[in-house]
Amino acid sequence: MSEPAVVIAGGGPTGLMLAGELALAGVDVAIVERRASQDLVGARAGGLQSRTIEVLDQRGIADRFLSEGQIAQVHGFAQNRLDISDLPTRHNYGLALWQSHIERILAAWVTELSVPIYRGREVTGFAQDEGGVDVELADGQRLRAEYLVGCDGGRSLVRKTAGIEFPGWDPTTSSLIAEVELTEVPKLGIHRDAKGTHAFGRAEYEIRNGEVVFMDRGPVRVMVTEQQLGATSEPTLRDLSEALVAVWGTDFGVHSPTWISRFTDMTRQAASYRKGRVLLAGDAAHVHYPVGGQGLNIGVQDAVNLGWKLAQVVKTTSSESLLDTYHDVRHPVAARVLRDTMAQVALLRPDDRTNALREIMSAVLGMDEPRRRLAAEMAGLDVHYDLGEGHPLLGRRVPDLDLVTANGPLRVFTLLHDARPVLLNLGEPGCFDIAPWADRVQLIDAKYDGTWELPAIGVVTAPSALLVRPDGYVAWVKDQSRLGLADALTTWFGPPRERAPAPNDN
Ligand SMILES: Cc1cc2nc3c(=O)[nH]c(=O)nc-3n(C[C@H](O)[C@H](O)[C@H](O)COP(=O)(O)OP(=O)(O)OC[C@H]3O[C@@H](n4cnc5c(N)ncnc54)[C@H](O)[C@@H]3O)c2cc1C
Repeated sequence: MSEPAVVIAGGGPTGLMLAGELALAGVDVAIVERRASQDLVGARAGGLQSRTIEVLDQRGIADRFLSEGQIAQVHGFAQNRLDISDLPTRHNYGLALWQSHIERILAAWVTELSVPIYRGREVTGFAQDEGGVDVELADGQRLRAEYLVGCDGGRSLVRKTAGIEFPGWDPTTSSLIAEVELTEVPKLGIHRDAKGTHAFGRAEYEIRNGEVVFMDRGPVRVMVTEQQLGATSEPTLRDLSEALVAVWGTDFGVHSPTWISRFTDMTRQAASYRKGRVLLAGDAAHVHYPVGGQGLNIGVQDAVNLGWKLAQVVKTTSSESLLDTYHDVRHPVAARVLRDTMAQVALLRPDDRTNALREIMSAVLGMDEPRRRLAAEMAGLDVHYDLGEGHPLLGRRVPDLDLVTANGPLRVFTLLHDARPVLLNLGEPGCFDIAPWADRVQLIDAKYDGTWELPAIGVVTAPSALLVRPDGYVAWVKDQSRLGLADALTTWFGPPRERAPAPNDN
């Protein structure tokens, strides 16, 4: 094994995305993954939200996912479907695609980018010093790196070893989820009763007219709310049978499980996403109940926020303090997701008073304005990083507009495929000189005559120039940011480089 600049513990969706981002930025990165292959036991995430599809589109790989999944209105809140078809984004939908496929496609991308994935290897400890981190593996090998990122899931060894607190809330509900054979198959779909929310389905399904239509063959996927909390051992077929009997009075002849797992609404968040040379992302940094389908999505988006920053620090383009902005902006995003999932767990409680409350919420979410706002939030489209006062675009995602350039039409997201920042000049061509940053920042002269509309905000004044970071968030808007352009370029992309003396310079 070579000595990479960055070791990522864990090659789930977050670790894979981060590896891709670092590789695009030219950083030597390696993943250490406990699983022997990318195969995933059990069903986890069922799809991608709009903003995650946008983020993948920014790297030119969204089509790989779109071609394998099913586009649908999948966003929701406490089982209220939130239609986002009228939100201003090219991807005004979600994508139904199982996590096993999402991981496979991401792993293929990362492999194309030549990132080594050390499979069947486990990080068992590490020690950091001023110059780097010694990462210990279960087989006794050691890897020396400049930085270690824990993308190793909710039980993160990296988080625990770093001594980072994980405060939050203990579970109030627990469910078993499994793929099994049943001798008697009940009505497929979601069932709600006084004992909780349960579901029967199949891995293979189609979405027709917005409704899930399961195939009539294959093993059954079961989700059942347990009537007791606090189990500590791995769930067994017997546990599943008992949980089914407790709810339905029968276990439907359950047998031949492919896998059985348990999830709860335990809700916790790392107190800090960084300790020296060790960082956390994805489930290692935040865990919550899966309702609303947010976990994988915000993990991937953590990675896209962290990747370019870590790359610049490794390449000494930026000082280490840039890494603190990762915690500063991503911690509040996950904290809001945690709050949203706790609210949904509360709204899904099966008592009559909560049912009444849920009916009122449904009526409220049937109204346009509340629906559009919450939909933008659940789709990840309204994320706002606090970059100070100024134009509404500042700290928000740049829309994927159709630009016109001297070389023909160009989509904004196409400019981000290489994960390089871009100064987009929509005013007088040639009016910017960013030569001292030209090695890092692209300068594009373009025209755009349409409206600028942001999800949950509405139409905003058209900017004449804006600086877009590699993660697709706007760092500066001409005449409408606290910082001048040179300050913004320095803050985000490092100090100016001396110009090479021109031949006629003295
Ligand atoms: C039932 C269920 C349904 C869900 N539905 C959704 C959904 O619809 N939408 C959504 O967005 N999210 C959903 N989630 C959440 C989603 O699955 C997680 O948020 C997502 O997997 C987090 O990705 P990650 O890469 O951060 O962590 P993980 O996917 O947990 O990956 C961590 C990786 O690290 C590896 N690892 C762990 N420890 C070590 C170690 N010491 N050394 C080396 N490797 C290690 C693991 O093998 C694993 O590959 C759901 C979760 C559950 C349980």
